[in-house]
Amino acid sequence: MPLVQTESIVLRTYSLAEADRIVVLFTRGHGIVRGVAKGAKRLNSKFGGSLEPFSLVNVEYFQKEDRELVSIRSIEIERSLFDVAAEPAFLSVFSEMADLLMAFVPPQDPNETLFRMVKACVTANITSERELNALKVYFELWLLRLGGFLPDWSTCFRCGRKVEPTETARTDSDQHLLCSTCARSHSGTAVSPNVREQFLLARSVSPEEYAKRTSASDNEMAVKELAEILGKIIQNVIGGGRERRVTGF
Ligand SMILES: [Zn+2]
Repeated sequence: MPLVQTESIVLRTYSLAEADRIVVLFTRGHGIVRGVAKGAKRLNSKFGGSLEPFSLVNVEYFQKEDRELVSIRSIEIERSLFDVAAEPAFLSVFSEMADLLMAFVPPQDPNETLFRMVKACVTANITSERELNALKVYFELWLLRLGGFLPDWSTCFRCGRKVEPTETARTDSDQHLLCSTCARSHSGTAVSPNVREQFLLARSVSPEEYAKRTSASDNEMAVKELAEILGKIIQNVIGGGRERRVTGF
């Protein structure tokens, strides 16, 4: 029964039996792992406050070959998000991020790049709801990108020509980008140069920098529009069935 040690983010906990909890962890080394924290509901539990959602922790667990649930031996807090997680707006956005991760990432499938992205998001210094909304957009964009679901918006999907920075393009039903010429006969969503700028910026900076720069530059509308487009892609992926999800990562 091998002992595994790995840095992790606590995504969620569920009550199990009288004294135990099931903990869903996003681990650096093994992807999403579900484990049992024995006695975690007792007042004097060794797990203490280490199971608060979105805490960054170091976890040790025993992996049993034939069981989906691992047995957690210890969890040590590296960084607690307790204060932040007490804010309803943060709690709601972070819970949505946890739901998306659980929907996109198959169990025990390691993805270190994705882990680093999620860690950078949960440890970003976010101080306003505007920054929080930008952070969510960043997270969704990268989740889609790392899964291979993010369309390439540099060229027109139909004619292949480069879409100019000043051009207003449109998306087709799969959120591919159509240039202003090809988009004439199309009823998709208009994508302003501002929205495309947000799309490109999120791909090139850290989540904290994206949140700060975006909320400082009065781009709330563009972020909202980008969020709607990403939301449609996410719905397509999740609605597309498990097979597509699993092969995405
Ligand atoms: Zn075109």
